[in-house]
Amino acid sequence: MQERKKRRIAILGSTGSIGKQALEVIENHPEHFELSVLTANNSTALLIEQAKKYQPNTVIICNENYYLEVKDALSDEPIKVFAGNKSVEQIVQTDDVDIVLTAMVGFAGLRSTVKAIEAGKIIALANKETLVVAGELISQMAIKYRSSIIPVDSEHSAIFQCLVGENHNPLEKIILTASGGPFRGFTYEQLKQVKKADALKHPNWTMGQKITIDSASMMNKGLEVIEAKWLFGLSPEQIEIIIHPQSIVHSMVQFSDGSLKAQLGLPDMRLPIQYALGFPERLENNFERFSFLDYPQLSFEKPDSKTFRNIALAYEAMYQGGNMACIMNAANEVAVAAFLEEKIDFVNIPELIEKSMEQLTFVKEPSLEDYFLTDEETRNYTKSLIKN
Ligand code: MN
Repeated sequence: MQERKKRRIAILGSTGSIGKQALEVIENHPEHFELSVLTANNSTALLIEQAKKYQPNTVIICNENYYLEVKDALSDEPIKVFAGNKSVEQIVQTDDVDIVLTAMVGFAGLRSTVKAIEAGKIIALANKETLVVAGELISQMAIKYRSSIIPVDSEHSAIFQCLVGENHNPLEKIILTASGGPFRGFTYEQLKQVKKADALKHPNWTMGQKITIDSASMMNKGLEVIEAKWLFGLSPEQIEIIIHPQSIVHSMVQFSDGSLKAQLGLPDMRLPIQYALGFPERLENNFERFSFLDYPQLSFEKPDSKTFRNIALAYEAMYQGGNMACIMNAANEVAVAAFLEEKIDFVNIPELIEKSMEQLTFVKEPSLEDYFLTDEETRNYTKSLIKN
């Protein structure tokens, strides 16, 4: 086999669920990958532990209050330590980095992703909010700076994998599968009663808290619809959601001749992470294999966008375009945080988002700075709704 340069990887958000699994993938393929950068917001203890174990060149703690703690803990290691988001924006542009895995939570990932694209890096995109908020801008930039965006989200990885080798064959539509979360089949009355602990019990996937709540509220699928629009250049009519409780079919593509392709496997995020980091190669691993005999019945149902309003709101935001998805996302982040603090009920989440989408100023063609402004204004507005 041809000798190949190792890919140097920056993991933005290494202490989260995706970050931890990415470290496992990198550790298992030392011949392909080299860990260059780790960043975290606040989880100093785990960041320090990861740095000692995996020996990156650089570690960045985004919350500057923790700089000395991290710096001191790593003073005996040959590791550079920086603090603050500005440092992240700088490091992703350096020659030490080939691939930037964006695994941080929420809108916070936007600015550093933009910087990495400007530097022409490969983006392994795990932070879906980036494309939801600023998909139009990001996809234009990616073309301009010749930066490739490879999805890590399992549904989008599935679609991406289905499209390999299809070059310019036209798509008729894509079908995003959704597990339906822990409240699949619930009525509105039942949804009113659910508690934080119920919402955090996802049937198939182990994920961070924010995305687990988004899965229960179906906002995760709404965000993924918009993410897919920008990743694959689709119109809203070309994107369908289907509920598939077993989470084995990770998503499907239908071509102009009616032929369907699907990507299947056990629900294990390490696979889409590994695929994104290794693309176009498929690397060996010892992950558990799927057997059809263990799943004699794969089932599919129509999503209930009347009870799970977030689906309808996401399509609405996608049709409107401009900064509407940015408003939706910011309101959702605030609402989910409030739900996790047990300040609001589960059914209040879509109510707050809808109200915010009605009240905030619509901007048809936002600039990058407009997105930051919209995000801030929406957060303030949604928080004020929660207070009252
Ligand atoms: Mn997903």
